[in-house]
Amino acid sequence: MAKQDLILLALNPSPILDLMERALSAAGFVVAVAHDRTGLDRSTHEAIPALLIIGEKFSGQDGFSISLEVLERFPTLPIILYAERDSTALARSVVKTGLSGYFSPPLVMADVVDEVQRSLARARKLGDWLRREVRRTTSSLVEKADFSEAERQKLEIIIGNIQDGVIVMDRNRNILLVNRAVRDIFNLDGSDLTGKPLGTSIPNEDLNALLMRASDGPLKYHEINFDDGRVYNAQYTPIPQIGAAVTMQDISYLKELDRLKSDFIHTVSHDLRSPLTAILGYTELIHRTGPLNPNQEEFMRRLQGSIQHMTTLVNDLLDLGRLDAGFDTRREVVHLENVMKYSLDIFENQIRQKKINLVVDVAHNLKALRANPIRIRQMLDNLVGNAIKYTPVEGSVYVNVSMQGDQIIIRVEDTGMGIPPEEQGRVFEKFYRASNAIGGAEGSGLGLAIVKSIVDSHQGRVWVESIIGKGSAFIVLLPAQD
Ligand code: ATP
Ligand code: MG
Repeated sequence: MAKQDLILLALNPSPILDLMERALSAAGFVVAVAHDRTGLDRSTHEAIPALLIIGEKFSGQDGFSISLEVLERFPTLPIILYAERDSTALARSVVKTGLSGYFSPPLVMADVVDEVQRSLARARKLGDWLRREVRRTTSSLVEKADFSEAERQKLEIIIGNIQDGVIVMDRNRNILLVNRAVRDIFNLDGSDLTGKPLGTSIPNEDLNALLMRASDGPLKYHEINFDDGRVYNAQYTPIPQIGAAVTMQDISYLKELDRLKSDFIHTVSHDLRSPLTAILGYTELIHRTGPLNPNQEEFMRRLQGSIQHMTTLVNDLLDLGRLDAGFDTRREVVHLENVMKYSLDIFENQIRQKKINLVVDVAHNLKALRANPIRIRQMLDNLVGNAIKYTPVEGSVYVNVSMQGDQIIIRVEDTGMGIPPEEQGRVFEKFYRASNAIGGAEGSGLGLAIVKSIVDSHQGRVWVESIIGKGSAFIVLLPAQD
C-alpha cells in the first residue's frame, strides 16, 4: 500500500473529524483537513489528494452537490461521504452521485481504514487501466503518424524523381507541388512555388490553354510547345478533394519521328506522281496503235481504274503533307451553301444506286466563311462520301448546316454501320480504318485525316458521335467570317 497517499477530510469540526484524523494517521496515511469550501478547492487542486472524505453537510453546503462539482473536474478521485444517519435514500444518492462509499455512526476506526483502503484500491485499478489505455492509444497514434510520415516522404521522393513533369494544384489553381522535372522543363529557379497561382507562376501559353480548356469539357490532353523544338504531352486530371494534377511527358522524339515519316511519305508520293501520269498516258495511247480485243479492252479498263486509285492516294498524301506543313494559306470568302451543292452533285449517282434517302437542311442565316474553297469542298466530299459509303442500301444521310453564335456547325449524319466506341478517337489518324469497315467498302483511311487537317488549318474543331449498328454523325465547327 502506498502509505504516502494523502487523504483530504472536508468535515465540520466535530469528534468524528478528530477520530478519522487519528485513525487514518495511525494507519500511515497523510491527512489534511479542509476547513471551508475555499480550502477544499485549493487542496484538491494543489495537494492532489488520493481520496476525499466529505460531510453530508460541509461549511453550510450540501456534501452531494460539492462532490458533484469536484467529480466534474477530477472524475477518478474516490470520494466517501459521511452522514449522521444511515438510510436507503442516502445509499441511493451515494450511488447516483458516483461516490465510492459512505460512513455513518456508529463508527469503528478499523471500518474507516478498511473502507478508505478499499476505495483507494478500486481507484488505483481504474487509474492503472486508464493509463494503460492512454498508453496503448498514444502508441498506436504515434505508429500511425510515423507510418503516414514515412509514406509521405516516400511519395515525395518518388514524385520528385520521376522523369515526367508533375504539377499538383488545389481547386483554385494554386500550386501544391511541382517536381524537379517541371522546374527543368520550364526553366524555373529553385524558389518555393507552394500556394502561388499556377497561371502566373509558370507563365506558358499552352499550359494556360490546357487549364482553360480543362474546365469547359472533358479535355484531357494538350501539347505544350517550346521555341527550342521541345514538345510535351500534358494531361489534366482532376483529383477529388484536392484539385487537379497536370502531368507532362516529353514527346519531342515522337514528334521528330512523325515529321520524318511525313517527309518520307511526301517525298515518295511526289516521286510517284510522274510515273503514274506516264503510265496513264501510255494506257490511253495504246488504243491508237490498233484495235484491242475485248479481253485486252477489259484489262486496260482495270489497269486505268487501278492507276486512278493510286493517283487519288498519292494526291491525298501530298495534300496531307501540304496541310500539315501549313502551306494552305489561301483564304477567301466562301459561301458554304454553294460549295455544298457542288459536293452533293458528285454523289448523285451513288445516292441513286444505293437508294439513299438524302435530307439536306441549310439555315438561311448562314454567315460566310473565310476559307480555302477547294479545301472546304474536299472536307465535305470526304464526310458525305463516307456517310454514303458506310451506310447500307436504303439508309438515310442527313446534312445539316446551321449557325451557333459566330460558329458554323456542319453535321453529316447517317444511319450506317457506326464506329466501335473504342475506335472513334482513332478514325482521324492517317491510314486508320475501323475494324468493322475492313473487308467491306474500300478505302485507304486518309479521308478523315485530311478532314481533320483542313478543319485544324481553319481554326475549327471536328469530332464524331456514333453508335455501332445505328449510325454516325460527324460534326464540324468552323468560325464564321465577321
Ligand atoms: P478514304 O481514304 O478513301 O476516305 P476511308 O473512308 O476508309 O478511306 P476515312 O474516310 O479516313 O477512310 O475514314 C476512316 C475510317 O473511319 C473508315 O475506314 C471507317 O472505318 C470509319 N468511318 C468513317 N466515316 C464513317 C461513317 N460515316 N460511318 C461508319 N464508319 C465511318
Ligand atoms: Mg473516307
